[in-house]
Amino acid sequence: MTRPPAERTRIRDRLRSGTRFLITSHARPDGDSLGSQLALAEALTRLGKRVRLVNSDPPPGRYAFLPGAPAIEVAETVEAGADTVVVLECGALGRTEVSGLEGRFIVNIDHHTGNTRYGAVNWVDESACACGELVFELIEALGTRLTPSIATNLYVAILTDTGSFRHANITARTFEICRRLADAGVDAAAVAARVFNNGSLGRLRLTGRVLDRMQLEDDGRVAVLAVDEAMLRETGCDADDLEGVVNLPLAAGDVRAVILLKQAGTGLRVSLRSKDAIDVRRVAVPFGGGGHRNAAGLTIEAPSPDVRARLVTEVAAAVAESRSA
Ligand code: 5GP
Ligand code: MN
Repeated sequence: MTRPPAERTRIRDRLRSGTRFLITSHARPDGDSLGSQLALAEALTRLGKRVRLVNSDPPPGRYAFLPGAPAIEVAETVEAGADTVVVLECGALGRTEVSGLEGRFIVNIDHHTGNTRYGAVNWVDESACACGELVFELIEALGTRLTPSIATNLYVAILTDTGSFRHANITARTFEICRRLADAGVDAAAVAARVFNNGSLGRLRLTGRVLDRMQLEDDGRVAVLAVDEAMLRETGCDADDLEGVVNLPLAAGDVRAVILLKQAGTGLRVSLRSKDAIDVRRVAVPFGGGGHRNAAGLTIEAPSPDVRARLVTEVAAAVAESRSA
């Protein structure tokens, strides 16, 4: 048995001593942020704590079934009231897109590289496959029972953040946690069906259209996908329906990295994905973004006409660097 990290012990103690909690996570929530939030909220509620869940955006439809999801409040600002703010899955506090958090007692739990350690306590474990893995360990340390609903939320966190058990950082510990979650009552097939096989026909059409317009750069090693608001409108989709689409070009053996460009008003949201040792986080950081080696993102508020070319150059350089390494 390895010793628990000191930060985890400090966080456990704070969760025990605090009484009023606010749990938040990143804007445009995903399976890991939502599952982690909801699992921790239930555990704290079972310990008799008052818990509020606040995000800047509502859960996408595919995650509406998560136990406890209706309790999530959507707000861009929060007033004082909680003694402890738990921020999950955020490499920087600004990722919450919730104001009013600065200066509060913040517990920062995350697995992103380059986390800015904005909390009063910071537990950042880049080796975790999902934030849900860390929340599992915390709930275990608290000694609260692993209910079927907590287990389902944590399973969704791990299932989605590992790309259905395909990404890096999956370890024996990941499967050990999932075994414990299955023991606690997770119906893995039912969860997968809800998350992956319950989308709209419009989403399927959008996916087809985006892939049909895929462009290849760097001798086919870099795939570029572009989505504008007209494509969303015509297929009856919103930006949430694009979750996962950025990964699809990686199914081709020759494609080493993917750039997805999403028009968002006058700005541009960019998602980057890569294989193996290709580091796309290092491409995102100079643009003010971040993430992980194989999955990163950034937002450009006022994109210049050459932004696509610049991104292609940088991603191709990252591909080349990993080839020469
Ligand atoms: P996605 O492409 O799915 O939006 O994000 C991929 C990964 O990059 C996620 O781990 C996400 O947290 C991170 N990420 C996406 N956008 C940003 C950003 O603007 N800033 C930072 N720091 N990380 C981001
Ligand atoms: Mn995550």
